[in-house]
Formats: sequence, structure tokens, C-alpha cells
Amino acid sequence: MRQLPHWIDGKARDAADGGWLEVFDPATGKPFAQVADGTAQDVEAAVAAAEAALPAWSALPDTERARWLEKLAQALEDRLDDFAHAESKDGGKPLKLAREVEIPRAISNLRFFAHAATQFASESHHGQAGLNYTLRRPLGVVGTISPWNLPLYLFTWKIAPALAAGNTVVAKPSEITPQTATMLGELAAQIGFPNGVLNIVHGLGPKVGEAIVGHPRIKALSFTGSTAVGKRIAGVAAPMLKKVSLELGGKNPTLVFADSAWQEHLDTIVRSAFQNSGQICLCGSRILVERGIYARFRDALVERALALKVGDPIDSDVRLGPLVSQAHFDKVIAAIARARSEGGNVLCGGNALDRPGWFVQPTVIDGLGPDCATNLDEIFGPVVTLQPFDDDAQALALANAGEYGLAASIWTRDLNRAHRFASEIRAGIVWINTWLMRDLRTPFGGMGQSGLGREGGLEAMRFFTEPKNVGIAL
Ligand code: NAD
Repeated sequence: MRQLPHWIDGKARDAADGGWLEVFDPATGKPFAQVADGTAQDVEAAVAAAEAALPAWSALPDTERARWLEKLAQALEDRLDDFAHAESKDGGKPLKLAREVEIPRAISNLRFFAHAATQFASESHHGQAGLNYTLRRPLGVVGTISPWNLPLYLFTWKIAPALAAGNTVVAKPSEITPQTATMLGELAAQIGFPNGVLNIVHGLGPKVGEAIVGHPRIKALSFTGSTAVGKRIAGVAAPMLKKVSLELGGKNPTLVFADSAWQEHLDTIVRSAFQNSGQICLCGSRILVERGIYARFRDALVERALALKVGDPIDSDVRLGPLVSQAHFDKVIAAIARARSEGGNVLCGGNALDRPGWFVQPTVIDGLGPDCATNLDEIFGPVVTLQPFDDDAQALALANAGEYGLAASIWTRDLNRAHRFASEIRAGIVWINTWLMRDLRTPFGGMGQSGLGREGGLEAMRFFTEPKNVGIAL
């Protein structure tokens, strides 16, 4: 069985105590690889390597760091197909999605921050007393912890700005989908990326994740994952006065107004509900529909959901693969059972597929109000609810119900309403007549229980640097 080691100091390494964890193929439910079951000792080795590499890496001209990131991006692009296959096998996502969206996005992340390294500038303030300017220095050794839903895309979204800004990194991918990060470590070694600059330590959250978060010489931590783990990390990092960026869960509203061109946009609305089997933090899982079109919209959505092909991620016409793990499958199935017990009408789906692997049918539920657990808790699967609304005030109240505040999409032809809602909805990202329109320069992140801080563009470069003000009397 294939073994996936750590990559520390430019070399493949087994876990310090020789332990391995099984990695499963979600389409069969069977293990197909093993990943290093890392320990605090492995994190210590990675920190030592990152510290040793820091002086030379942070002293490189920006253009040289950019060149390395660009070189890594090119090497990844040359192997795009292998990486797409690995991503699809690990996470059960349709190969087409990995090939056309997610691995290309990982390449773009590396390229984008290669450019950012050379474009990043700091401020100066010329006043009566003199001149103030801001130095922005790298933080040192930083930690990144990423989830399983967009494995390489989110892994690179963190390491690229950290490296571009001159830090060295200890990065932990999810133990559930460790394959492509390992391949990236191998690729970095193959192209001669300086040793110790990017260290990848695998393993479980409570062992390796917590060792990274609590390590006194790791200066900052960028985390994407669940709200529960984000809060735990904040609890460890806060008393250490460690800088943290937390990108957490969501329960995003999709607002469909009667005046919208919803029939034309139905493809995108369906994608926003079910892409990657609903396992994207930005998916719209609460669809709010103006009452005048409710019945027509509901029937059209159900018809589309029933037509989505669920099956082997490798098949090119499959739109939904399996859920990522047995534990996540159990959670989603339990959430559907809970929706039934809360009085929801399951309009389509609602069951697992009768085959090996962790497949769940696309599921649409209505008949539930904003206060039930189904509409408050993140499910993170191919499960959406529908709620009707009568006017703008009710639409806004429904959109803002609950504690999350990550993303929202608004579908309307009324420009004033669109801008008013964009301003009043409690979410870090709002899309009008579109979904998942990403520009890597924009601030990315959520409010409330969806997180703390922003990633993307200059926000990420600022996060990974320490500002220092210098005042000169003139
Ligand atoms: P998770 O919180 O279980 O795990 C995320 C990462 O944290 C994994 O690498 C895991 O090993 C590690 N981890 C677990 N326990 C830890 C601990 N005690 N200390 C340190 N690290 C620990 O999340 P998941 O199930 O992998 O991912 C799904 C979640 O991620 C969903 O809630 C989703 O909304 C969220 N997410 C958010 C965004 C965003 O940008 N806001 C993007 C993608 C996913």
C-alpha cells in the first residue's frame, strides 16, 4: 500500500514513532494508502528545519522568492493531471472538478502570490512633524492547518502568501486527504526548492495540529476548518498572544427574488447548492425564495436535483461524488434524519446510495423555519432547505438568522435592493446574480461564527508580516 510520508527539511520522513494512519477511497470505503501518523516530535523537527532555513529565505530578494513560487507553480501545472487524479481519489470529488477547477486554482494561488511578493508595498505618512514609514518584516516560522474539502487549493492558499512574505512554514494538511500535499512536497524537493522552507507534517488534529498551535516558536497560525476546532485553536493561541487567522464554517443563504432571472441562473444556483456534494464552505445551503415564485422554483430545483448524476468521481458525467469519510457520511445522514424529526418534508433525495462508498443523494427539504437545528447548524453535504419569504424585511431576517456569516448570494434584477441587501446581510462575501466569482485580490473570510480575519491579496500579505512604524523628523 502506498505510504505518504512527511516532507521535512526537503526530505521524506516517516513519523518519529513509525506510526501510520489509513487513507480511504470514499468511492469504495476501502483504504488505499497510509499517511504518517505524526507526533509532536515531528513538529519539533519541522520547526527546527524552518528556523534554520529562515535567515536565507527571508533575506532573498522578493523577486527570487517569486521565482521559486513560480517554478513550483509551473512544476505543478506540468503534473496537473496526476494531481487531479490524486485529489479525486483522496476526497471523492469528481475528476472533472479537480482537473478544471481545483488544481488550476492551486496553481493560480502559487502564481498570484509569486506576483504579490514583488508588488507588496508598505505605507508612508508625510505630516507636519516629519515622515513616518512602515516596515513590513516576515513573522518567522508560521503554521498552516487546512481541511479536506479543497485539499490542495486551501493548502496553497495559505503557504503561498506565507512564503511570498518571507516566512518559512510548517504546514499540516488534513489527515483525511493527505495525498496532493505530499506530492507537492515531493515536487518542491525535485525542483530544488530550498530545504526547510516548506515543511509538511501529517497527522491527527489533536496530536500534530495542537503541537503546531501550541508551539512557542511558531509565530502565527492560519487555520481553515470547523468552527469548533477554530475556537479551540483560539483558546490555545490567545494566551500565547499568537497571531491567528480563522476561516470557519458557514450556513450561507441564497436569496431568490421573484424579479430575478432565476430560470436562466438555475444552473449556477444548483451548483451553489451541490458542488463538491455541498462540501464547500461557500455553498448556499439555505435557499430563501419569494413566495410568488416559491412553488415554481421548488419544482424546478427538485427536478434539477433529481437529474444530477451521483456516482464514481472518475466518470466524466458525474456531478456528485461521495462524501469524504464514514464519519462525515454518518453526520450528514443523521442531519437528514433530524430534519425529518423536526417536521421537514424531504422533497427529493434523503438517502444513501445502495452501493459501497459514502454516497448521499442530493437532498432538498422544505417546511422548516429558521429556528430549527436543520437551518442553524452546518451540514456540509448535498442537503439544502427551502424557505419562502413575503417581503424584503422577512428575507433579510431569514438571511441573517443564525450565528454564521460567511457568504450569501442574492438573485434579483432590482439594483437598489441588491446593494441594500449586500450592505445589510451579515456575511463576509456577497455575490449578486452569481456565485463563487473569485478574484484572488479580494478580502476573503467570514464574520460571527464563520471566523476571524481575512485572507486573500494584500490581506494575506499583511497577516504574514509584522508592521513596524519608523518616524523621522524632517
Ligand atoms: P476540522 O476542523 O475537523 O479540521 C481542519 C483541520 O484541522 C484538519 O487538518 C484537522 O486535522 C485539524 N485539526 C483538527 N483538530 C485540531 C485541533 N484540536 N488542533 C489543531 N488542528 C486540528 O475541519 P474539516 O472537517 O477538515 O473541514 C470542514 C470544515 O471546514 C467545515 O466546517 C467548513 O465550513 C470549514 N471550511 C471553511 C472554509 C472557509 O474558508 N471559511 C473553507 C473550507 C472549509
